[in-house]
Amino acid sequence: MTFDAERARKDFPILRQRIHGNPLTFLDSAASAQKPQQVIDAISRFYESDYANIHRGVYELSMRATRAFEATREKARRFLNAREAREIIFVRGTTEAINLVAQTYGRTNVSDGDEVLITQMEHHSNIVPWQLLCLEKKAKLRIAPIDDSGALIMEEFEKLLSPRTRIVAVAHVSNALGTVNPVREIVDLAHERGIPVLLDGAQAVPHQRVDVTSLDCDFYTFSSHKVFGPSGVGVLYGRAELLEAMPPYQGGGEMILSVSFEKTTYKGIPHKFEAGTPDIAGVVGFGAALDYVMSLDPRALAAYERDLLDYATEELAKIDGLRLIGTAPRKTAVVSFVIEGVHPHDVGTILDQEGIAVRTGHHCAQPVMDRFGVPATVRASFALYNTREDVDVLMAGLGKVREVFG
Ligand code: PLP
Repeated sequence: MTFDAERARKDFPILRQRIHGNPLTFLDSAASAQKPQQVIDAISRFYESDYANIHRGVYELSMRATRAFEATREKARRFLNAREAREIIFVRGTTEAINLVAQTYGRTNVSDGDEVLITQMEHHSNIVPWQLLCLEKKAKLRIAPIDDSGALIMEEFEKLLSPRTRIVAVAHVSNALGTVNPVREIVDLAHERGIPVLLDGAQAVPHQRVDVTSLDCDFYTFSSHKVFGPSGVGVLYGRAELLEAMPPYQGGGEMILSVSFEKTTYKGIPHKFEAGTPDIAGVVGFGAALDYVMSLDPRALAAYERDLLDYATEELAKIDGLRLIGTAPRKTAVVSFVIEGVHPHDVGTILDQEGIAVRTGHHCAQPVMDRFGVPATVRASFALYNTREDVDVLMAGLGKVREVFG
């Protein structure tokens, strides 16, 4: 079956508008995806009829809100094919999930002289939490290099797995390059040496179905806002034995069994890691987003996005002086590029006048920019509501850039 993007587009009301007099062409879903009507409706319905604080109330509204909140946990479990719903922890997003693991698993398992292994293509949120940990513990942050196409050099990665490596943290998909990492192989290599693996799935889940049980990873994280849900919500999946052994991340209400000034006892997982009142409606909207993506045919969507990527890549190659950054054989639908003699921000500003939204900058991946010797790139990223016409509009917009800059 082929994926019907025109039909999917109709679910996204924001796309039906003009920007500076032109129809909106939204090519920045890797930064944050737009929301279907189903998600918007779920959030407003929840506020209109079911809202109350969760877990504590004995009254009807609180119980309804709790059921809706916990239903999302079960949806996230199903979405990731985790074994148990208690392995799903709600967080603010990928950034908080990685900080949680660094500050709990990391602080208890990493000490002086130990190593944490990441890659050169990580988002800052999978670099800085580990740097903070390494600084505190006098541990070393090791970086597995990437090649000129933006693919991870697996022989180098393997060489960097040492008896001192305490955790490996790797992007499933790179946000700046679109590279899809061989995560199953990464997990196998690390596990052969008894090292746990965290996978940053922020850029993977909008494009492919992920099965944490078959990947066999120890932690997997993603953000709701990149998978068509609201911002401020995300998931940390963790293997139950690891989560149980980890100390709490933040203290407060919701995460305790009993508190006295002498001693506090904590709830079991997942609640041990969910201190305070969460973004309840956000989690409910996130559940609607998961329903939305789970209703799609993943193979048809992957084939559709592959076609878009191939088409965009072919078209961009026709532009003189354009250099693609990120040409790994396995990529998601992201094209990052620079145009000789034109600053990426100028490209972005001219495209904006045409109604085209692209991201320009370092994409929170400055080491990737350094690796390719550029300060910034223009990045067009595609989601299920983009079409070949969007690529044509982008090409016409880049034509305007050439007219301005010669
Ligand atoms: N990791 C990757 C690969 C990302 O692309 C992003 C966001 O761009 C993040 C982590 C951080 O996600 P969030 O800002 O939702 O916490």
